[in-house]
Amino acid sequence: MYINLSDLREIGLKKSVSKEVEIHDLEFVGREIEINDVIRLDLEIYNTQDSFLLEGSIEAVLVLTCSRCLEKYKDPVKIDISEEVLKSDLEDQDELFIDEIIVDNIILSLPIKTLCSETCKGLCPICGQNLNKGDCDCEIDNIDPRLQKLKDFYEK
Ligand SMILES: [Zn+2]
Ligand SMILES: [Zn+2]
Repeated sequence: MYINLSDLREIGLKKSVSKEVEIHDLEFVGREIEINDVIRLDLEIYNTQDSFLLEGSIEAVLVLTCSRCLEKYKDPVKIDISEEVLKSDLEDQDELFIDEIIVDNIILSLPIKTLCSETCKGLCPICGQNLNKGDCDCEIDNIDPRLQKLKDFYEK
């Protein structure tokens, strides 16, 4: 989406932009990031000598995949934006293509490890059951190694 800057030609002027922006789902280093609904964009744009300064925020609902249980979950985010776009980088100083700035800021805000919840139990390593939805019948051997020694001792 382009933001019209033709009313911002004079240095020192600023304007507020509040818009809903539609951004397609993203893929970033093999991770799929769905964007649920539109993104809410609130920006102040200042015309400085050599650049346009963008200050504000975006609000979006991302749909991420949990790295433990592999289920998708919604992650509502509010991301602060602070960018400087050099006029020399703009082909046309009367309009600003905002999509790249939004996408970059979303990607930068992503957690390194996506978790549907801090307490996500993940998948059973044996049968693959999602343990958040209920226990499976697999016996997972997670005896403390020190207790295991004791157990061995009594079994002799
Ligand atoms: Zn999970
Ligand atoms: Zn299992």
